[in-house]
Amino acid sequence: MAIERTLVLVKPGAVQRELTGEIITRFERKGIKIVGIKMMTMDDDMVEEHYSHLKEMPFFGNIKKTMQRTPIVALALEGHDIVKRVRVLTGDTNPREAAPGTIRGDYSISLSNNVIHASANHKEALDELQRFFKEDELFNYNRMNVMDYSDN
Ligand code: ADP
Repeated sequence: MAIERTLVLVKPGAVQRELTGEIITRFERKGIKIVGIKMMTMDDDMVEEHYSHLKEMPFFGNIKKTMQRTPIVALALEGHDIVKRVRVLTGDTNPREAAPGTIRGDYSISLSNNVIHASANHKEALDELQRFFKEDELFNYNRMNVMDYSDN
């Protein structure tokens, strides 16, 4: 299985509830490598492009409003089979269906405040990483064993 990358957005609802650190920790504790991280606002064009598949839906105005309420925190994550693994950790779109133990299952309070976005598939991940990160904002580095840092 090749190493791949995926995009996660900590949505404004989670930024407002001061869950950003906790959500990042969930990925780190699972051993997932962060290769990009930034806070940014999503302008109209960006929201419309990112959620273009929902543009005709009656709740699109609501999505736009909630995604622009505060900055978002974008994460680029890397690992084997990472797109699927992160979707599993993310949980169902609907908070009522999201299993406990998943990020949405544990923190999501409504459909429009469902805490994070995660790319749905490999193609989407490639497109979305390009949308949110410039090439020089994504990093290659090796993680060392903790003991490698020991002076003893
Ligand atoms: P996902 O984010 O799980 O990939 P979708 O791409 O279908 O799901 O939807 C994008 C986002 O739009 C969802 O995460 C949710 O915040 C919002 N959304 C989806 N359906 C509804 C709905 N019926 N009412 C309000 N917001 C919705």
